[in-house]
Amino acid sequence: MIYDFIVVGAGIAGASAAYELAEHSKVLILESESQPGYHSTGRSAALFTPNFGNRMVCSINKISELFFNNPPAHFIDSPLLKPRGALSVAAHGQDTELDQLLSLSTPSHLIEEITAVDALSIAPFLRADRVGRAVLEKGVSDIDVATLLHAYVKGFKNRGGELIGNEAVESLSYKNGSWLVSTRNHTYQAQTIINAAGAWADQVGALAGAASIGLVPKRRTVITFDATTGYSLGDLPLVEFARSGVYMKPESGKLIASLADATPTSPQDVQPEELDVAVLADQIQQETLIPVNRILHRWAGLRSFVKDESPVVGFDHLVPNFVWLAGQGGYGIMMAPTLARAVAQLCLSGSLPKDMLSAGISIDDLDAKRLSEPTV
Ligand SMILES: Cc1cc2nc3c(=O)[nH]c(=O)nc-3n(C[C@H](O)[C@H](O)[C@H](O)COP(=O)(O)OP(=O)(O)OC[C@H]3O[C@@H](n4cnc5c(N)ncnc54)[C@H](O)[C@@H]3O)c2cc1C
Repeated sequence: MIYDFIVVGAGIAGASAAYELAEHSKVLILESESQPGYHSTGRSAALFTPNFGNRMVCSINKISELFFNNPPAHFIDSPLLKPRGALSVAAHGQDTELDQLLSLSTPSHLIEEITAVDALSIAPFLRADRVGRAVLEKGVSDIDVATLLHAYVKGFKNRGGELIGNEAVESLSYKNGSWLVSTRNHTYQAQTIINAAGAWADQVGALAGAASIGLVPKRRTVITFDATTGYSLGDLPLVEFARSGVYMKPESGKLIASLADATPTSPQDVQPEELDVAVLADQIQQETLIPVNRILHRWAGLRSFVKDESPVVGFDHLVPNFVWLAGQGGYGIMMAPTLARAVAQLCLSGSLPKDMLSAGISIDDLDAKRLSEPTV
């Protein structure tokens, strides 16, 4: 059997692209791990933050928001976004980041300055002497990542797609107009490869003979801790400390917090460093009245960037029928619905979806070729 497409990787990128492609094509996903979403997708902060990332990323996410709020019929039966809001605070003299944030305000996504008193009433556990200024962004939401990933995988299978886990792609060779894709025990054949291998995308590119896109996986540390402090967490927004970038939000009666670190590393099943966890706990205690006595869970995940921090989507220029879907950085869950449609349309009709073109996004903006051109 010759598949139309083999997708390498069953994170949110691979699963969403495979879902879109499977509507019209025979698609196989090969995944190294036993289940989808084991790496970056399963370790994210699960936020929809419309003003986070560069202009390209924000434009893509504006389109994704329409999908999240109006998913296709039968795709899902519960909301994908849950309003969370974000409160950013800074001490006096450390508030330049807040001005930058305020400058991103738009009529559809208001970002407003609020008083320190109001900030303390929203998050009473903040240390008052650390809250000089505060900014509230209501348009930030939680994404139900597990449900989203599950819906993509289920929809993909309903469209006749196949997903094989514990099946790491070890070699790729293009012969007589199609790809031979070998794992330890099997060889599969496809017309086109979709490289959705997350932090491993450059390695998979190298297997195919493609030039490197210069992908750098960066480690980010997260902890969950008990909020045994008597504060009500129910309606708490995401709370971010503007200077350090450390952020925290409630999840199932606990708090999760991230150091917002971005330490370059190699593609791997990344684990948190003890020092990062200790620094994070210390920062939370400096900024808040919450004692971090008991860390319930700690983890790290990889956010993989190319040099301009925009995603890489499109056909490789050296190698035939080899498509990149990589470099989603810290925005890959939010961007997935839009980038998946981009991959499918590029593969099936050679163009980007109309809504992306109308938003001023071109094939060249996403193409890997831009990365080999000298920056002006
Ligand atoms: C701490 C943290 C917080 C984040 N917060 C957010 C957020 O709030 N909002 C947001 O939108 N994004 C966030 N992100 C980013 C988001 O998680 C990623 O951009 C996204 O998950 C990337 O998805 P992916 O499918 O490309 O990668 P992955 O989920 O890593 O999937 C890639 C898959 O490819 C597989 N693979 C690799 N090599 C091979 C091979 N040779 N053969 C077969 N399979 C292979 C891997 O096993 C893996 O399952 C965050 C990330 C982190 C780490």
